[in-house]
Amino acid sequence: MTQRPLTVIISGGGIGGLAAALALRQRGIRVRVFERATELRDGGAGLHIWTNGTLALRYLGVLDEVLETAPVQHVTHFGTWRGDLFGSWPVGDFIDRYGCPTIAVERSVLHRVLTAAVSAYDTDAEIRTGAGVVGFEQDASGVTVELSDGDRVRGDILIGADGIHGAVRPGLLGEHPARYTGYIAWRGKAQLLHEKIPPGTFYALFGPGTRFTFYDVAPGVVHWMSVANGAPGGRDSGDPRELLAQRHRGWMSPIDEILAATPEQDIIRGDVMDRAPDRRWGSGRVTLLGDAAHPITFNIGQGACQALEDALVLAEELDTTDPVNALRRYEKQRRKRTAGLQQVAWRIGRLGALENPLLIRARELGMRMVWPRLVFRIAERDQISYATRWRTPPAPKPLPDSTFQTDGA
Ligand SMILES: Cc1cc2nc3c(=O)[nH]c(=O)nc-3n(C[C@H](O)[C@H](O)[C@H](O)COP(=O)(O)OP(=O)(O)OC[C@H]3O[C@@H](n4cnc5c(N)ncnc54)[C@H](O)[C@@H]3O)c2cc1C
Repeated sequence: MTQRPLTVIISGGGIGGLAAALALRQRGIRVRVFERATELRDGGAGLHIWTNGTLALRYLGVLDEVLETAPVQHVTHFGTWRGDLFGSWPVGDFIDRYGCPTIAVERSVLHRVLTAAVSAYDTDAEIRTGAGVVGFEQDASGVTVELSDGDRVRGDILIGADGIHGAVRPGLLGEHPARYTGYIAWRGKAQLLHEKIPPGTFYALFGPGTRFTFYDVAPGVVHWMSVANGAPGGRDSGDPRELLAQRHRGWMSPIDEILAATPEQDIIRGDVMDRAPDRRWGSGRVTLLGDAAHPITFNIGQGACQALEDALVLAEELDTTDPVNALRRYEKQRRKRTAGLQQVAWRIGRLGALENPLLIRARELGMRMVWPRLVFRIAERDQISYATRWRTPPAPKPLPDSTFQTDGA
């Protein structure tokens, strides 16, 4: 008897949802991706994808295309707002140790490459925009998903990859609002070639209750982020560049030039949210992935990298005969992996938010002493080396020759 191929419904066409779609397709599993937004959006900014994430991208067969524009990172500098450095992490060495670089990439590039790869894999891949998941019901044989366009679709499995404010999570675990970190991030993109930002250089600078990071995401394109403590739900009155220029006046050069070279309309403001690690991500035929499962603040640059890892582990587990047990095994592995990272990122965020001058002095002293000697080593061990399991890319599996099940089928 031949087994019917699985159909997996994915709620959310962000990095996690698209990576999961690609990983599942490569294992011969059918996917249907439903995205609430009317077009696949990129969030308008850049991402640091550490070597654990690029190993996953290479395993998915898309790294070479991403590298056509994404610069390989050579060094990550940490320092004070004046530019005194606590430590410089030679992340370019990861290429020798893991055979894969750490990169910076525009979100739009990652989205485009993943979408194209899912669609190119075979012609019946479905990525439907303007169709948010609004509810679901499961029974012993499958899951029925209700969409915002009124359609109902049925599959074997539902993956909630719909971000920190997605719809699958409350349907599974109940309504629990995300946790506000106490700080707000402004992000933007400047067209700037500057001798102080040679290709592959990342800066993270700490001030009192404020931070500024910048790095190149393409030749002559600098992504930056300004972070400051404040109440949630606020809006900028007027041109945010004036507020930001004032906040970072006297900071290390070329921050003023970066801000001046950023078009006003390219600046995105957002309250930074996360959640404490959860004990449960799923039930029966439904599970969560990416930020829907384990939102990680940007402080360690691992949120998207972990969504990529989730995608590969999920596909590995679903490549077996019992999908419900496969989901529980996936959750067990990934909860263990991501819970510690959620907590580390939260703590580094608290450290970055300090405003008391004495505590800031202690922070600077501590960072100077432990950052290069200890933190880089621990971070490499805990964040990067996990992904060496994906060093050797797989041989693709052909898809079974049949069409999608549709509503009521
Ligand atoms: C300021 C900032 C900087 C960051 N920097 C980094 C970094 O350098 N490196 C890194 O690895 N990570 C970084 N992250 C984290 C990273 O952005 C996230 O972890 C990553 O985008 C998670 O991907 P996702 O697909 O799980 O969720 P999302 O990117 O949030 O995608 C979810 C998708 O689901 C859709 N959706 C929502 N609700 C529904 C619904 N009901 N039905 C259908 N679709 C729905 C949304 O429209 C969206 O397209 C950063 C985050 C922030 C905020």
